[in-house]
Amino acid sequence: MLDTTKDRNPMPEELDALVIGTGVSGLYELHQLRQMGLKVHACDAASDVGGTWYWNRYPGAKFDSEAYIYQYLFDEQLYKKWTWSERFPGQREIERWMHYITDSLDLRRDITFSTTITSATWDETSGLWTVETDQGDSVRVRYLVCCTGMLSAPLTDRFPGQSSFDGQIVHTARYPKEGLDLQGRKVAVIGTGATGIQVIQTIAPEVDQLTVFVRTPQYVLPMKNPKYGPAEVAWYKGRFDELKSTIPHTFTGFEYDFEQAWADLTPDQRHQVLEDTHADGSLKLWLASFGEMFFDEEVSEEISEFVREKMRARLKDPRLIDILVPGPDDYGFGTHRVPLESQYLETYLRDNVEAVSVRDNPIAEIVPEGVKLQDGTVYEVDVIIMAVGFDAGSGALSRIDITGTDGMTLAEEWRKDIRTTLGMMKYGFPNLFMTGAPLAPSAALCNMTTCLQQQTEWITRCIRDLRDSGNDVIEPTQSGEDAWVAHHDETANATLISKTESWYNGANVAGKPRRVLSYTGGVGTYRTLCNEMAEKGYPSFVMRKTAIPATA
Ligand code: NAP
Repeated sequence: MLDTTKDRNPMPEELDALVIGTGVSGLYELHQLRQMGLKVHACDAASDVGGTWYWNRYPGAKFDSEAYIYQYLFDEQLYKKWTWSERFPGQREIERWMHYITDSLDLRRDITFSTTITSATWDETSGLWTVETDQGDSVRVRYLVCCTGMLSAPLTDRFPGQSSFDGQIVHTARYPKEGLDLQGRKVAVIGTGATGIQVIQTIAPEVDQLTVFVRTPQYVLPMKNPKYGPAEVAWYKGRFDELKSTIPHTFTGFEYDFEQAWADLTPDQRHQVLEDTHADGSLKLWLASFGEMFFDEEVSEEISEFVREKMRARLKDPRLIDILVPGPDDYGFGTHRVPLESQYLETYLRDNVEAVSVRDNPIAEIVPEGVKLQDGTVYEVDVIIMAVGFDAGSGALSRIDITGTDGMTLAEEWRKDIRTTLGMMKYGFPNLFMTGAPLAPSAALCNMTTCLQQQTEWITRCIRDLRDSGNDVIEPTQSGEDAWVAHHDETANATLISKTESWYNGANVAGKPRRVLSYTGGVGTYRTLCNEMAEKGYPSFVMRKTAIPATA
C-alpha cells in the first residue's frame, strides 16, 4: 500500500472533476466519474480513505445502522465479497471495509492524501474553478464535487482555557490514531450525544475515575449486536436483490419503514408495536414504529413516556434519573438523533463513574487541573474527551474559502441563511456539487450510504446530461432555489424536529442561522423529486456553454 505521508500522489494541474473527500460518497463519486471517462482526481485532508470512519476513531465508535444495509448496492459482487462479523461492527472493521472498497475499485492511484483544500475560486470566463491546497497545489477544474461530509467539522474549540489544561484534551473526531492510555486515569467526558454515549460505555471499565458532564438528557435505545456466523452472513447476502429494491425507497433509507398508523390500532396494539420495535435492539422504534411521533404532540408524548419508563427502570436511582432521563417538558423522543447503546445506563451504576449535571451550573472554563463549573467547582482530571459535536451540514464547506460568481463566498452566504437547491448545488456557485450538505436527507433520519449513493448517482447523471446537451456549466436559478427552500421549510416546519434544539437545526452553534438541516420529506420522496428534476430537463437550473473547451 502507498505510504501517503512519504509518497504523496501529485495533484494534477488540470482536471475535468475534482472530488473533495474520500469517505462513503467521495469514493463512489470518484469511481463513477472515472467510469464516465472524465479526468478525475480526489483529495483528502486525511492520510487515508474513510471520511467519518477515518476521523472518528474514539473508543467504542461503531455503526448504528445494520452493517449489511450500510453498504454500496451498485455492485452485487462488491457487496457479497465482504463479510461482516456482527450486526453493528466497530470503527476498525468499518475502516477495513472502506479500504476493501477502495482497493477493489483501484481508486488509490487517483487520490492525493494529507492535502487540505484551502480555497476554490470560480472564473466565469473559462467556466473553471481554481482550487488551491495547503500543500501549494493549484488545480484548474471544471466540476468540483464536494463530498466533505455532514458531520466533519468538529467543534474543537468549545471552552475558554482549553490550551491551559495540564493533561490531554481531545475532541472525539480528532482522537489520536495511536489511541490514548486511559488505564487507571481520571477522565472527563463532555457530551452525551451518540458519540459520548459510545465513549462512556466503552472506557468506564478501564479508567480509574470517569466524570461525565451531562447537559441535556438524551433518549437512548438498547442495541442488540449478535456476532455473525456463516448462517447470518448467508442470510443477509441472500437478500441482496431484496435490499437493493427496497432500501432506496423507504422513508429513512433503512430496510424497515413506518408500516402502521397510530389511529388504526388500539392502545394495546400500539404498546405491542413499541415493545416489539424496542426489543429489536436497533433504531426500529424510532424509524419504523409510528411516523406520527414526528408530527403529533400526543403521540410523541406517549412514545416518549414509553422510552423514559424503559430508561427509568434500568437506572432506578432518582438522582441519576433526574440527570439522564428527559422530562416531559424537555423534547419528544426522536426529534433529534436517537443513539443506540450497550449497557450505557448501567455504566452510571459503577462506583468509578459520576454523572454531573451542567444544565443549571454550566462548564465555565477548562483550567490547568480540569473542568471548572460556573459555581467554581473544579473537577480534577488527567484527560478530557470532548464529545461535543460538529458544525453540521454547512460547517465543512464554510471552512474552505469558496468564491462563486460576483465575488460571493459560500461561507458568507451561509452565515446569512443556509440555502441550497436539492441539497446538492447552490445558487451563485456554478458546477459546484455537494453531498451530505444542508437541505437534503443526509445524516438525520437517514442511513447515510443510501442517501450518499443516491446523491452521487444524481450528480454523475447531471454532469453526463450537461455534457450530452453540449453545455459545460450548470447552476441553479434563484427561483429554483427559492422553490426548494420553500418546500424544504414547509416540510420541516410541520415536524416537531423544527421545535427541538439540536444540531438538526443549527442550535448547537452560536450565531448559526436556524433551519432544519436535513430534508424531512423522506429518502424515497427525495429520490423521486431529484429524478423528476433530471427527467424534466433540470427546470430549476440553467445550463450554458463556455468559450474555452474542457481539458479532456
Ligand atoms: P451531538 O449529538 O451534537 O452531541 C454533543 C453533546 O455535547 C451533547 O450532549 C451536548 O449537549 C454536549 N455539549 C455541547 N456543548 C456543550 C457544553 N458547552 N457544555 C456541556 N455539554 C455540551 O454530537 P455527537 O454525539 O458527536 O453526534 C453528532 C452526530 O454524529 C450524531 O447525532 C449522529 O448523527 C452522528 N454519530 C453517528 C454515530 C453512528 O452512527 N454510529 C456515532 C456517533 C455520532 P446539549 O445536547 O445540551 O447541547
